[in-house]
Amino acid sequence: MNSAADFSAAVLEWYDRHGRKDLPWQQDMTPYRVWVSEIMLQQTQVATVIPYFERFMQTLPDVGALAAAEPDEVLHLWTGLGYYSRARNLHKAAKLVVTEFAGEFPRNIDQLISLPGIGRSTAGAIASLSMGLRAPILDGNVKRVLARYHAVAGWPGEKAVHDRLWVVAERYTPHSRVNHYTQAMMDLGATLCTRSKPSCLVCPLQAGCEARLLGQPTQYPHSKPRKQIPVRQCLMPLVMNAEGDIWLQRRPDSGLWGGLWCPPQLDDREQLARLIEQQGWRAEAPELLEPLRHTFSHFHLDIQPLLVRVMAGHSVAEPGQVWYNLRQPSRLGLAAPVKKLLARAELTI
Ligand code: SF4
Repeated sequence: MNSAADFSAAVLEWYDRHGRKDLPWQQDMTPYRVWVSEIMLQQTQVATVIPYFERFMQTLPDVGALAAAEPDEVLHLWTGLGYYSRARNLHKAAKLVVTEFAGEFPRNIDQLISLPGIGRSTAGAIASLSMGLRAPILDGNVKRVLARYHAVAGWPGEKAVHDRLWVVAERYTPHSRVNHYTQAMMDLGATLCTRSKPSCLVCPLQAGCEARLLGQPTQYPHSKPRKQIPVRQCLMPLVMNAEGDIWLQRRPDSGLWGGLWCPPQLDDREQLARLIEQQGWRAEAPELLEPLRHTFSHFHLDIQPLLVRVMAGHSVAEPGQVWYNLRQPSRLGLAAPVKKLLARAELTI
């Protein structure tokens, strides 16, 4: 498959035989109906969208009705679909279509993009599906197909990769039957070239698909690179009394490990010395225990545990504090790394 014409011909031939033609928004394809369906489909599966789309169209059948609706009505029709900014933008955009474009959707990509909630791909879908204009689309499904077809390395969230995919999308968009081609590309991505199990053997693009030829279709497009997250450090003294109990504090309800019981989390040894003094403990020299890393969603916490043995006679705890009996543990909420540390402390008794 060497040319853009061959590519689109293969896609259209497949569409004639296998493409979806009976979705509700494929009947009476007005810009309004295509637009509402595209916005609903942005974060949501087709099967979920269908009843919402039908209800929406029954209540607000055209852009004028949507523009005139109360915000509560629009949000009510959206209830359960999630991502409510989509509904708010839809409402705002409908008002602009009425006031700025005399109730007609503009037949121009830049003007479509100027409306709230309409990006380049949605504008392309409205223009190609309902107006027959030659405009490429690049939704998630199409990105996947094109990234695989050309084995485009990199994550499509990166500008260079994204730009490259737009160039490819533009190149393959045909001059005729653009509405069927657009629908076919979305269907191909949704039904054949799926994320984890592409059906390459029945795909109309298999002959020229580089990712398939490399034997690695699911390697493309590359996933979002894992973000480097910062590392924080703390000291966590396991203060042990003569009975072998460990001193824990209840953490404030909000924040990290909110409401859970934990050894003190300190920045340095000076803070440890102050704590020992405040509590009136007679302590032996702290012993370093094996460090522990705990990873939260937004940072790693490197914990340096210290075993601090204190003299007998310190079993009375203030409210919000407890001497935790390692051998007969009471039912307290403990964070996972604290459980690990307590298990280690038990070995030292
Ligand atoms: S051949 Fe396979 S990987 Fe390539 S576009 Fe078709 S389904 Fe996707």
